[in-house]
Amino acid sequence: MTAPALRIPGHRLLHAPGPSPIPDEVLHAMSVQNMDLADPRVDSSIAACEAGLRTVLGTGAATRVLMFIANGHGVWESVVQNLAAPGQAVLVPGTGHFADQWARVAEALGREVVRTPWHEGFPIDAAAVAAALRDDTAHRIRAVFAVHTDTASGVTSDLAALRRAIDEARHPALLVADCVASLACEPIGMDALGLDVVIGASQKGLMCPPGLGIVAVNEAAFEAARANPAPRFYWDWVARQGPMNYQKFCGTPPLPLLHGLAAALALLQREGLPAVYARHRRLAGAVHAAVAGWAEGGALGFVAREPAARSVSVTAIRVPEGFDVNGLRTLARERFQVAMAGGLGALQGRAFRIGHLGDQNEANILGALAGVECALRAMNVPLGDGVGRAVRLLAG
Ligand SMILES: *Cc1c(COP(=O)(O)O)cnc(C)c1O
Repeated sequence: MTAPALRIPGHRLLHAPGPSPIPDEVLHAMSVQNMDLADPRVDSSIAACEAGLRTVLGTGAATRVLMFIANGHGVWESVVQNLAAPGQAVLVPGTGHFADQWARVAEALGREVVRTPWHEGFPIDAAAVAAALRDDTAHRIRAVFAVHTDTASGVTSDLAALRRAIDEARHPALLVADCVASLACEPIGMDALGLDVVIGASQKGLMCPPGLGIVAVNEAAFEAARANPAPRFYWDWVARQGPMNYQKFCGTPPLPLLHGLAAALALLQREGLPAVYARHRRLAGAVHAAVAGWAEGGALGFVAREPAARSVSVTAIRVPEGFDVNGLRTLARERFQVAMAGGLGALQGRAFRIGHLGDQNEANILGALAGVECALRAMNVPLGDGVGRAVRLLAG
């Protein structure tokens, strides 16, 4: 294999649903010299991250915002270690690949997992969650681990319906939401929705490099962690409550990532969160319009069956049986300079995915759709007009 050329004329458009493109302001902010941990600039960038994250999470000062040097898998493990002891149970509603992965983490750590079924293309079945909780008369289930947007299917579930399901079952389980793919893309409203824990990661809607895992913990969840006898060290929430910055990070804070995240949060604030969310909705609408147009050719379709549950962050597109998804991705990336993702889990080989989260605008999205349409045409996939539909939608 020959080494790929590093210099690409123009920009290669990055439309994986994470890692997502990094704004120049964030790249520049990360280019800083190391600092002594007593330097007040370290504490001030941590404080800026905590305050900015509280705003995007929709939560107040009582919520503890923890940051781990980790990816999403790391914070999944942190949630398991803090909220259930070995032998105790958690409930993971089926959403597809990401719920399956989180459940595997819990099982690998010796926790029992109760699952509700996944109906491909559909959001979480809140009635099945309520039924599973009502069946648990001994209250062995400590928490419900719900994936808000399953990045593999592009389906977003209704967190308010889950809150109601837990309350109506009169079950004490905590509600934990994986908002890795939705945080900073759509309103989360942690306090208003009654979410006990929300997790996120730096490399998706937060527009940073991978490496910072975020866990927001309300008072009830923190008390549950305090009472949980499970052995743990790095992932422990209670030990991270000291006033010193190295206590908050169980060691040296990741300085460049903190500077980058503070810069990204400042960009979100400057644009205004309502405008950020409206932009995500508008651009997702353009992608959905293009996919609906392509689907008229009879070969492609949405994985997500309910239009209202289609994610603002990522769209998964179903392909015919036997279609070469990896060939499409390679062609789109190497010839047309659009990088996108394939299918995961049950959707492997059956779908490709276009990410539209984070630092995106109309031109990026139209360019990506045109590049994908070129690649699809080059592979002789029968298509209706996709890009034209997206253009007409955005032109109003
Ligand atoms: C990306 C993602 C994860 C996992 O994140 P990694 O950083 O790849 O470990 C978890 N949950 C959701 C919903 C995601 O989109």
